[in-house]
Amino acid sequence: MGGPNLLNRVFDDTHKLLIGGHRVAAASGRSFETLNPATGEVLAKVAEAGVEDVDAAVRSARAAFEGAWGHMKASERGALLLKLAELIRRDEDELVRLESLDSGKPVSAIRRQDLPAVLDTLTYYAGMADKINGHVIPARPDALTYTVREPLGVVGAIIPWNFPLMIGMWKIAPALACGCTVVLKPAEITPLTALRIGELALEAGFPEGVLNVVPGFGKVAGQALVDHPDVDKVTFTGSPAVGRQILQGAAGNLKRVTLELGGKSANIVFPDADIDAAVKAAGAGIFFNTGQVCSAGSRILVHHSVHDEVVERLAARAQSTRIGDPLEASTAMGPLVSEVQMKRVLDYIEIGLNEGATLVTGGSRRGEAGYFVEPTVFAGVRHEMRISQEEIFGPVAAVLPFQDEEDALRIANGTAYSLAAGVWTGDIGRAHRFTRRLKAGTVWVNTYGPTDIRLPWGGARDSGFGREHGDAAIENFTEPKAVWINTGR
Ligand code: NAP
Ligand code: MG
Repeated sequence: MGGPNLLNRVFDDTHKLLIGGHRVAAASGRSFETLNPATGEVLAKVAEAGVEDVDAAVRSARAAFEGAWGHMKASERGALLLKLAELIRRDEDELVRLESLDSGKPVSAIRRQDLPAVLDTLTYYAGMADKINGHVIPARPDALTYTVREPLGVVGAIIPWNFPLMIGMWKIAPALACGCTVVLKPAEITPLTALRIGELALEAGFPEGVLNVVPGFGKVAGQALVDHPDVDKVTFTGSPAVGRQILQGAAGNLKRVTLELGGKSANIVFPDADIDAAVKAAGAGIFFNTGQVCSAGSRILVHHSVHDEVVERLAARAQSTRIGDPLEASTAMGPLVSEVQMKRVLDYIEIGLNEGATLVTGGSRRGEAGYFVEPTVFAGVRHEMRISQEEIFGPVAAVLPFQDEEDALRIANGTAYSLAAGVWTGDIGRAHRFTRRLKAGTVWVNTYGPTDIRLPWGGARDSGFGREHGDAAIENFTEPKAVWINTGR
């Protein structure tokens, strides 16, 4: 897998920035290290973009937008996206391995979930590129009036570390399909696959400057992108705290902003549900990707009549989860992405204990190398507790008993977030009632967690605003222009 080439490059080179079609060192000459979270060892050195580098990337993105890219037929943009998908498929093994080494995600999950989603996203938006239409709107008898949808221009894409390839592609593919150009700032702890995608885009034949990749620190490189007066749009996935900073930075030139932030999603189990399926999905809903999922079902709300049974079975699932080397095909759960993240999760476990929640299973670090934490289940959690209100972003399930429907809705809707929710019931009326009354951008009924590029994705309140995926993403990266042609009567 990957071949000697990749491994040499991962371990020996300082990975460069990708600006204007060239691999370049940072203007400052600085670099930073990215680690393998399964071992804590240094994986690679990466050039550290500063303000000057981000400016160069924005200028090359602007030049491409005004030049080769702006003059290209939409169908050719679509063909290039398909070509990129083909190259990703060719290099699948290498990309899976690189993503796993840099982020600690199990190869099995990347192969099953992330990579197919990346390819689906590319092919979906490749097909959209030449179907972005305006309307003829017969407003008056003395004019031909119509709209065209035009690309916004230069897009700054800032992404987190939990799904670097997939979330990156959720932004890159629709932006490019619409005819925008992109400056991508990956999370500093997982920069490697973003750089590789940038190189594959060049190999596919995208004109230079269409996709620039500038790894670096959020406070410097990310902020520079947000503050840049020639960036037209920032699409961001990350934490609410940084989301707020982005809104302030974007005020300078009134950039468009899309924010996909966190969640504290409720997964609600009624006694009339298929309890087997509900427990299985509840476990996957919180332990998948080591709980580092914005839509993780981190609060499991269980009707009091089945509470003890669900807790017991959930704990059994937690205990049987295969934790270990993410490169092993049989591993289901890898480490947390960083030492900082591990400490944050262990701190929250401490907070839960201090708040009086019952630790049913897990609760500790596993091993001494790497950032592994056991899948953890707290029962007897009360709605007001911090472990029920705050996003932990780790493999920690909070189980809360509820009395009836009103109680379940009060708890489910009672956090600052509104990203996703799940409900398990055999009662179709209740399923529809909950779908209507849950405050969430996505509601899953008798399933938990699937996403699809055709369906809008996003939240409200502390979960951010705007929607990605589907047609919504096309609207995010284009703007209608109204045209009047005076025809006379
Ligand atoms: P984060 O600190 O908000 O970072 C996200 C990205 O923003 C990173 O690339 C980061 O760079 C950059 N950044 C940091 N400060 C910045 C600034 N002042 N200006 C511009 N960019 C800046 O979040 P994280 O710790 O990487 O990820 C975990 C959080 O993301 C969780 O709260 C989770 O809920 C949320 N998330 C949401 C979704 C969703 O779809 N809604 C998906 C995944 C994650 P550095 O890496 O250098 O700090
Ligand atoms: Mg790393």
